[in-house]
Amino acid sequence: MMHLSLVMPCYNEAENVEAMHDAVEAAFAGCGFAYEMVFVDDGSRDGTWQTLKSLRARSAQRIRLVRFSRNFGKESAIFAGLRHAQGELVTLIDADLQQPPELALEMVRWLDANEEDDCVAAFQEQRSEGALTVLLKRGFYALMNRVTEIEFVQGASDFRTMRRTMVDAILEMGEHNRFSKGIFSWVGFRTHYIPYTARERHAGKTKWGTWKLFKYAFDGIVSFTTMPLRLAVFAGVGAALASLVYMVVVIIQKLAYGITIPGYATLVVLILLLGGMELFFMGVLGEYLAKTYVESKRRPIFLAREVLEPKEERWPNEEP
Ligand code: UDP
Ligand code: MG
Repeated sequence: MMHLSLVMPCYNEAENVEAMHDAVEAAFAGCGFAYEMVFVDDGSRDGTWQTLKSLRARSAQRIRLVRFSRNFGKESAIFAGLRHAQGELVTLIDADLQQPPELALEMVRWLDANEEDDCVAAFQEQRSEGALTVLLKRGFYALMNRVTEIEFVQGASDFRTMRRTMVDAILEMGEHNRFSKGIFSWVGFRTHYIPYTARERHAGKTKWGTWKLFKYAFDGIVSFTTMPLRLAVFAGVGAALASLVYMVVVIIQKLAYGITIPGYATLVVLILLLGGMELFFMGVLGEYLAKTYVESKRRPIFLAREVLEPKEERWPNEEP
């Protein structure tokens, strides 16, 4: 019999986890295979952990709980969830009911029927977002597809179901800066995409602001391409060549016409331009250096304060 693990990262989702559990239970009732829920409490400051514990105590489902020592971020929570998942299929799904559990069932059925595919990912066709956000996101995907060797699919979320081989591949990527959109496509394997429309959050509000999204995009670029560094080389070579040409022009002007050019404006502009460019690329260099520094410490991706295994060794629905 097939075993599925549903991995749910939770950060301050006390008002959602029960509804999520019930929605999963309802969606998977009579599905014909065994499943477990893996909740990762990413250092919540509300009653998420207490709610999860009482849920585990009274639920008939197989539930595994991981509690972080602090908030490590969704990427770390995903990693921890994958590490603790025991199924041969693993679904990543948010705990706020924005991503319908029925779709997870559809993903599982697809993988069951299509041996060639290793992953089914949901992508959002339409989103109600501001024009600027849409434009920025589109630009980001276009840029990433150009400058990295991996493919990024517009609107693809981390809501997906993967086979064990792919999960293990992701777990082997021990990097600290975990940009999962990049990681999912870097590991390869065959992904089938299905469209979906995200629902409204059951309760609470999103943890993503514009600034956080921007930083996330920036981290993604630094994590998956060294193109900005090369850009500095090109810009430097370009500036040097341009200055050579200008030098020749200045010498000819001086020899032929004897003009001493006042050139104050030119000087100011050049100094500011080059100074700005230098600082910019120093900053880029610094970003890569900082990432290298953090990675070189090889710190753990998450620290668990508590792990609660399922109440029974046996999976529900499994024949004894
Ligand atoms: N999440 C998390 N750690 C964080 C932020 C978010 O585990 O630091 C979880 C959150 O509880 C939710 C999922 O990641 O289950 C998606 O977060 P959110 O709903 O805020 O993002 P959105 O759906 O708006 O993209
Ligand atoms: Mg959400």
